[in-house]
Amino acid sequence: MTTRISHWIDGRLREGTSGRTSPVHNPATGQRTAEVDLASVEELNAAVASAAEAAREWRHSSLSRRAAVLFAFRELLNERAPELAKIVTAEHGKVLSDAGGEIARGLENVEYATGVPNLLKGGFSEQVSTGVDVYNIRQPLGVVAGITPFNFPVMVPLWMCANAVACGNAFILKPSEKDPSASLFLAQLWKDAGLPDGVFTVVHGDKVAVDAILDHPDIAAVSFVGSTPIAKYIYERGTANGKRVQALGGAKNHALVLPDADIDMAADAVVSAAYGAAGERCMALSVAVAVGDVAQPLVDAIAARLPKLIVGDGADPDTDMGPLITAEHRDKVAGYVDAGESAGAAVVVDGRTGDHPSEGFFLGTTLLDHVTREMTVYTDEIFGPVLSVVRVDTYEEGIALINSNQYANGTAIFTRDGGVARQFQYDVEVGMVGINVPIPVPVAYYSFGGWKDSLFGDTHMYGPEGVNFYTRGKVVTQRWPDPATSSVDLGFPRTR
Ligand code: NAD
Repeated sequence: MTTRISHWIDGRLREGTSGRTSPVHNPATGQRTAEVDLASVEELNAAVASAAEAAREWRHSSLSRRAAVLFAFRELLNERAPELAKIVTAEHGKVLSDAGGEIARGLENVEYATGVPNLLKGGFSEQVSTGVDVYNIRQPLGVVAGITPFNFPVMVPLWMCANAVACGNAFILKPSEKDPSASLFLAQLWKDAGLPDGVFTVVHGDKVAVDAILDHPDIAAVSFVGSTPIAKYIYERGTANGKRVQALGGAKNHALVLPDADIDMAADAVVSAAYGAAGERCMALSVAVAVGDVAQPLVDAIAARLPKLIVGDGADPDTDMGPLITAEHRDKVAGYVDAGESAGAAVVVDGRTGDHPSEGFFLGTTLLDHVTREMTVYTDEIFGPVLSVVRVDTYEEGIALINSNQYANGTAIFTRDGGVARQFQYDVEVGMVGINVPIPVPVAYYSFGGWKDSLFGDTHMYGPEGVNFYTRGKVVTQRWPDPATSSVDLGFPRTR
């Protein structure tokens, strides 16, 4: 028996009418557990109509009412996090503690958005000219949409919807069709928190729904997180239709390990960041750039750690690493390892033959050494449990390698030298930098975003930039003159 996963429109579940569905699996067992409805253009249009009506009302809600809804949502999410984590693990495959971590990092964004009365405070300049004041306000856009990837089915929607809703917009979520259930759990929590129907909507779907979002004249802005080719497409089509778009793409995150680094600490950090969530994180460290003499001890230290990791069902508390999202993706990742080996990389630890459950979409941890910049295992985002070690002679060679990569999401340096770390932060052309921190995902009161092909658009996600993205600025210039002093003046107004 498979479950039917439907849309959430007007504050309730709505069965799809398109006649098209997509299978949802438990990646740990390989079993098909549900069918998710895929929306037609007409269904998306109906959802937008409901959201537009809700947005007209919601923008009038006071800041204190919005804050109260966000506080209630925060409490519910916190209370129900263990249930939600199980849903994430059952459809994504990541281990329960990792699912809990994703919820906690998403929750931060809700907490940030509870401060909306403060976040939307404008500036006021008294007496900019004699008897004239200027102030600015930020107003909601109306209906905004978020299109999200499979790898963070809770955190990434929360990056978007918390601020969008707090700023007075109605938000339509088009989650990944691979793990869609978490979005409905969030929808119910929003309702229970007192959010009016239609302010948070979930439309499941594929390219048909996405294109309908990009073309709909009543959707003012689109936030996207996913792979680079789709991010570019979303940005181009959305902006051609006059929308605001922020589209975050893929990544190839390098760890630069200097000869003075503490080898054990660097190896712990690199292993955690390379293989956590089976490498299916946009901030996964997939390349270790080993400078000089550090290379062999680093490879040895990483290799020593991998056999200790338990690969299995993420629902089992003893498991360290779960499966990949689909059988096709597992095969694609294994294909990259084959290609790396054929191109001359040394397979130090081989996950293709590891000791992991045969059912489900598993691939073991894989470590490749002597990877070079021409190999596809280096050039492409693999999004799996594969770490490539590139050996370089100097810091300069390492930084040049990182800066020549098309992706520029995150990076990390491991060193005990503060001066070199500061130089790295200055030199590196990457949006998010860790200094002895392997996964430098910014806290919610900063903003998240990469450079180059890791982000299309000029606004980063969440935090202050998220609030700006979901609002339009308006500047008011006012005066209250004595009518007796009024006169005609055709000159261009100047301050006096
Ligand atoms: P994806 O690009 O395949 O899908 C993302 C979304 O786009 C999904 O909702 C999907 O339904 C939709 N989509 C897919 N193909 C489409 C098409 N042809 N036309 C229109 N819409 C389409 O990404 P994914 O596999 O779900 O997620 C993994 C990718 O996301 C990786 O590349 C990862 O690096 C990236 N990611 C980036 C960040 C970041 O912050 N930069 C965060 C998480 C994930």
